Amino acid sequence: MLKIQNLHARVEDKPILKGVTLDVPAGEVHAIMGPNGAGKSTLSYVLTGRDGYEVTEGAATLNGEDLLALEPNERAAKGLFLSFQYPLEIPGVPALTFIRTALNAQRRARGEDEIAAPAFLKLAKEKAAALKIDFEMLKRGLNVGFSGGEKKRMEIFQMSMLSPKFLILDETDSGLDIDALKIVSEGVNALRSPERGMLVITHYQRLLDYIKPDKVHVLAAGRIVASGGPELALQLEAEGYDRIVGAAA
Ligand code: ADP
Ligand code: MG
Ligand code: MG
Repeated sequence: MLKIQNLHARVEDKPILKGVTLDVPAGEVHAIMGPNGAGKSTLSYVLTGRDGYEVTEGAATLNGEDLLALEPNERAAKGLFLSFQYPLEIPGVPALTFIRTALNAQRRARGEDEIAAPAFLKLAKEKAAALKIDFEMLKRGLNVGFSGGEKKRMEIFQMSMLSPKFLILDETDSGLDIDALKIVSEGVNALRSPERGMLVITHYQRLLDYIKPDKVHVLAAGRIVASGGPELALQLEAEGYDRIVGAAA
């Protein structure tokens, strides 16, 4: 599914990723943990094609397709979805409008017809009900005045509407209380499927109590320095990053 090989990238001439190699097969959830400044967010931005992140070496493919050759919107249309640490607020654009625009862009890129308004509303109502989202909230400006938990719930709603092929969650747990964390985790777990892969980036082990990863990788100073099963996350939590990162240095 997602294959990253010897990926090097820099931001404003500063090398950040220094040879990341990672393989996430379809159906698996991999966690990336690591200290602050390790390059975790940089990796998610490089994969989604954010401006200012320059790949200097290496490759990244999604289902065999060269991700790095595609424009950011084309990557999204191929089904790559990045959940932000700090979701955008867009005053004046209702969440429903925003999501319908994104969904139709995805469909056009796949050569499919745009979704008709009644079908869209029916789908949105079903998904909102499943996530216990008040439908009226979807008519307000996207995320404007929403609490942290509501923004996260809105993001899970977007994901379930867009049905991405590959999901990247970048520290989606930061700032969430335990109830919001459970909502997000349930939403994410509901999206687990044999065809879908996920990369869950987190600084803390706590999220992984709810979203059980198949594999855990430790990113430090732009490289993956350790990989293992879920027990690696527990070990990191108990021992701190210094020991594992230090041992690999
Ligand atoms: P993490 O998500 O693991 O905390 P980041 O990917 O955000 O790490 O950052 C990795 C490194 O890149 C840090 O040293 C950070 O200061 C640097 N960095 C990130 N974004 C920029 C930027 N826009 N300009 C300059 N340096 C940046
Ligand atoms: Mg950080
Ligand atoms: Mg980060």
